Amino acid sequence: MKKIAIIGAGPGGLAAGMVLSKKGYDIHIYEKDQRVGGRSQRITIGDYQFDLGPTCLMYIDILRDVFKFAGYELEKELEVIRLDHLYTLMFNDVTFNMSKDPIDNANMYERYSKGMGESYLNWLNAQETKLNAIESILKRPFPNVSNYLRKDVLKAIPELRPAQSVYSHLSKFNRNSNFINSLSFQSKYLGMSSFDAPSVFTILPYLEHALGLYHVKGGLNQINEKMAELIERNGGTIHLSAPVEKIVVENKNAKGLVVSGQFFPFDEVIVNADFSYAMTNLIEEKHLRKHKPHKLEKMKYSISTFMIYLGLDKKFDFAHHEIIFSKNYEAYLNGLAKGEYSDDLSIYLHNPSLMDDSYAPKNHSSLYLLVPVPNLRTPKDWERDKDQLYSQAIDLVERKHGINIRNHITTSKVITPQDWESTYNVKYGAVFNLAHNLGQMLAFRPQNKYKDINHLYLVGGGTHPGSGLPTIYQSAIILNEYL
Ligand SMILES: Cc1cc2nc3c(=O)[nH]c(=O)nc-3n(C[C@H](O)[C@H](O)[C@H](O)COP(=O)(O)OP(=O)(O)OC[C@H]3O[C@@H](n4cnc5c(N)ncnc54)[C@H](O)[C@@H]3O)c2cc1C
Repeated sequence: MKKIAIIGAGPGGLAAGMVLSKKGYDIHIYEKDQRVGGRSQRITIGDYQFDLGPTCLMYIDILRDVFKFAGYELEKELEVIRLDHLYTLMFNDVTFNMSKDPIDNANMYERYSKGMGESYLNWLNAQETKLNAIESILKRPFPNVSNYLRKDVLKAIPELRPAQSVYSHLSKFNRNSNFINSLSFQSKYLGMSSFDAPSVFTILPYLEHALGLYHVKGGLNQINEKMAELIERNGGTIHLSAPVEKIVVENKNAKGLVVSGQFFPFDEVIVNADFSYAMTNLIEEKHLRKHKPHKLEKMKYSISTFMIYLGLDKKFDFAHHEIIFSKNYEAYLNGLAKGEYSDDLSIYLHNPSLMDDSYAPKNHSSLYLLVPVPNLRTPKDWERDKDQLYSQAIDLVERKHGINIRNHITTSKVITPQDWESTYNVKYGAVFNLAHNLGQMLAFRPQNKYKDINHLYLVGGGTHPGSGLPTIYQSAIILNEYL
């Protein structure tokens, strides 16, 4: 029986385990942490539970496919809830409440500004055409530049509008900055500013508006816990607290792994650990060609995040997903893209306890604050500065809502970009991985079958087709074409 090793039990590694688990392989997943999930794991602080990272799940059909490969049905294994209220967006002068119903949204825009409802519906229609054009490209391997000449790619190019950014594309529908920002903040899911993200990524808000935004009872972390359970039920083995020290390569062939000083031979090796971390730390430089450490340093990386997890002795009436936008959001985005810090913060809040009582004790709540910040390429002494940013973030939420949160904090935890790098093995703390500029997408992004070393495969946010849960799951599905 063919032996397959997977390095990392993040969403990418677990999805790979699911996709391959019914194909008669002997699958071993090695995870350095004590629990599965990676950046998407569940964290427990006192009596409170949190999603460490992802909270927004969209394009759920891809996850359904992952479960089908393993012989299961997503909705029978997990309680999946489509949100009626997508999110609350708090701008300086107006708050938008986004619904799962596009007509409600069109009416809301129209009330705000005459003609904006029609702009929104025009935009929505255009995205449907775009998604149809690019879906097949994102769902297949893209191993060579010659793939740009494929029929489906050539057909899609007019829809991709490579010269436009997300921001400039949206401005063609309506020039109002609140309109644009309400449909472009999703570029941050890629760790990019909407001024830099290629216009193809306006499909992100479309996926939320047209196909839905989902919550899973217990948090998105539960997807990982469930996948681990099902992989083991299908005969796979998950080794926890098992950091891989090295991928052994001989004559351009991956031969196995070194774990705790011991060599384990494998026929195929799949890497889910952060791509740039793995290339730098797990493979000897002499075996690399395109991704030697000095070349990785020249690549573009996403922003990072400063995280605050609060256990509160009260439930607050925030939306499940809420964003407080900076006063000058455009300046903030431009600064972030250049690696600059700003005091004019933008904050994302996740307040799951109103709809899901599994996060916190009765009448208490778990609240998560995410502040986008530059990655570690911009030097900062996080140990020194983290208390200040913590206070600034909480001040802003209190001011914006006219409430006191501090008196209700029973426990808290902070994660800085430095922690993302040192504890979670994410290079530069760039949690959304390699940036998604055109020079690092499709044929130019690390491919799922690694070209320079045989029997080596890649899954996860740093690989084709991209960062974000749906594309990470898709990277695992693509492996089905090779293994
Ligand atoms: C704060 C935050 C919010 C996010 N929000 C969203 C969101 O709302 N929606 C969305 O779609 N995406 C979101 N993302 C992006 C993305 O979905 C997650 O980062 C996702 O967890 C990435 O999955 P992955 O499998 O690529 O990597 P990881 O989750 O990092 O998994 C890699 C695994 O490899 C393990 N590992 C590393 N080194 C070794 C080693 N040497 N030996 C063994 N194991 C090793 C790690 O411990 C980890 O378990 C968010 C990310 C963050 C950080």
